[in-house]
Amino acid sequence: MQKINKKIIIIVLILMILLLFISFSIRLILNNKETELKSVETLYTPQENISQNEVQKEEIQVSSSDWNLILVNKNNKIPEGYNIELQQVEDNHIVDKRIAENLKNMLQDARKQGLDPIICSSYRTNSKQVQLYNNKVREYKRQGYNSQKAEELASFWVAIPGTGEHETGLAVDIVSRKYQILDEEQEKTKEQEWLIENSYKYGFILRYPTEKKALTMINYEPWHYRYVGIENAKYIKENDMCLEEYINYLKEKELNDKTEV
Ligand SMILES: [Zn+2]
Repeated sequence: MQKINKKIIIIVLILMILLLFISFSIRLILNNKETELKSVETLYTPQENISQNEVQKEEIQVSSSDWNLILVNKNNKIPEGYNIELQQVEDNHIVDKRIAENLKNMLQDARKQGLDPIICSSYRTNSKQVQLYNNKVREYKRQGYNSQKAEELASFWVAIPGTGEHETGLAVDIVSRKYQILDEEQEKTKEQEWLIENSYKYGFILRYPTEKKALTMINYEPWHYRYVGIENAKYIKENDMCLEEYINYLKEKELNDKTEV
C-alpha cells in the first residue's frame, strides 16, 4: 500500500511541475505577443501621421485667393476691371458662367420637392447698383435723415456701389413665388427653409446670417445666396461661419503653413 501511495505522490508532483511549466511558457508566449503588437503599433504611428499630413495638404488646395472666394464688402471693393463671362440662367437673370450649372441644379432639385423658388436678383452692373443705392438713400432722406445718416442707413440694405456681391455675378437673391417680399419673414417660407438647409450641396451659402451682422456689415438677408464652391460652402455651414470669418481662417492657416515650411 505504502509503495503505491508513494508512486501516486510522485506522479502528482510530476504533474504539478508539468502544469507549472506549461502555464509559465504560456505566459511567456503571451507576453511576447503583446510586445510584438506594441512594436507593430509604433511602426504604424508614423504612417498615420503621414496620412494626416496628406489630409492637411488636401485642405490647403483651397486658397483664399480662389476666384469663388472673392471677398466683396464695405472694406473690400470689387477689383477694378473685374471681368467675368456671364450666362443666362432663367427669365432674364444672368450670373457668372462658372456657377450657372450649380444654380440651375439647385433650383431644379428644390422644384422636385414641390417648392417654387424664383430668382429675383442676380448679376448687377455697377450703374444698376448705383441706381438702387441712390433710391434707398433718397428714401431715407425723405424720412428726414441728413445725407450722411441716410447713406449709412441705406448701406445696410443696399450695398454701396463697388462693394456689393451682385456685381461679381456670384450672388443671387432667391425668394418664394408665394412670398416675394424681402424681409425677415422670408426665412419662414418652405423655399428658404430648404435653401438654407441644402444650398451648400450646390456650393452656395446664405451670405448674410442674422447673427453675423457685425462682421458682414449687412442686415440679415434670408434670400441672398453666394456661390463659394461646394467644399467651401460645406465647411462654412458646418462651422457656422460667415465668408469674412472663413477667409480669415484660410489666411491664418496659409500663414501658419508658410512659417512651418
Ligand atoms: Zn442680394
